Amino acid sequence: MSRAPATPERAALHQFLARHQRFLLTTHVNPDGDAIGSEVAFARWLRATGKTVRILNDSPTPKAFAWLAEEGPVELFTEPLAETRFAEADALVVIDTGNKQRIGRLAEPLARHAIAVAIVDHHVTHDGFGQVNVIEPQCAAAAVLVHELMREAGAEIDPVSAMALYVGLATDTGNFRYSNTDARALRMAADLVELGVDVSDVTSRVHQSAPPGRLRFFGEALSALEMRHGGQLVVLEATPEQFQRHGLSGADTEGLVDLPRAIEGVEAVALFSEVEPGRVKVSLRSTGRVNIDGVCARLGGGGHPHAAGVMLRGTREQARARVLPDLERLLAELPAAGGQAAPARGAGA
Ligand code: 5GP
Ligand code: MN
Repeated sequence: MSRAPATPERAALHQFLARHQRFLLTTHVNPDGDAIGSEVAFARWLRATGKTVRILNDSPTPKAFAWLAEEGPVELFTEPLAETRFAEADALVVIDTGNKQRIGRLAEPLARHAIAVAIVDHHVTHDGFGQVNVIEPQCAAAAVLVHELMREAGAEIDPVSAMALYVGLATDTGNFRYSNTDARALRMAADLVELGVDVSDVTSRVHQSAPPGRLRFFGEALSALEMRHGGQLVVLEATPEQFQRHGLSGADTEGLVDLPRAIEGVEAVALFSEVEPGRVKVSLRSTGRVNIDGVCARLGGGGHPHAAGVMLRGTREQARARVLPDLERLLAELPAAGGQAAPARGAGA
């Protein structure tokens, strides 16, 4: 170990990794850049120490990160594949979520197989279902945690891992624009650039892979945006018909909820995205003064103080009725603009 582990939990994780030989890695449903990037870097780190590593996720990798997932490689859940992967492994590492229900269909085989579990996560809302739980909400991204764990272990960060970690860091901080962008995140970015990451190349790989339908869909959703609560709250909706007509999936809303942050005076944004009839994905964002994770946590979801989500059954109208009154109550409690900001870190996803 080249550096002392920063916490007893991290020391326990290093021991956990040393103790086991055949690892299965996974992350949350609908993985994002942090989920995929952190998994890929973690897998390469363990493999370099002689371990056997597989990555298996509940949901497909968004197209923007497909090039990165190939480096894992990241496998997609099927029942027989999950059965094989769980039977082969002696330890599971869950990255970027600490919530059992968030690993999706892997929860079922996990319940049947006697396998050790470690969690590496940065979410406030978690149930910490591992034997070892390294959960640090002060980290802007799970990739920050993975980077520090690798440094503590004295691991070499090869060019692919550096790129993977950069993707996690950059996506969860909104390219270093959100309130979770701190000195640690920027130092890490500098470290990764020194290791050879080409920022412009990685950024274009991630942000220049959209089909035209996605922008048309954004245009439609944005042109119908509603301003509420005296301009402090923006509400967006996406309908099953729109997803169908533009040939898009739920993952294609990525980034949409962040755009109205640009409107002057906006404190919060809510997106009600009905991917299939009767299932509404709610995404909430705060521009910094209100903490919105509680609104989602009360409904069974969660996230970070300034970026949270939950999946609700029912119509968009019903979802709005469950979310908007709580949000408007939070906004009503705000001091006049220019008042004290709510103390919160970790706004990324
Ligand atoms: P997004 O709105 O981009 O899907 O998610 C924003 C943040 O909320 C992310 O940190 C994500 O992990 C979290 N989040 C989104 N949906 C859920 C959910 O259904 N349950 C929990 N616990 N967290 C969620
Ligand atoms: Mn994350």
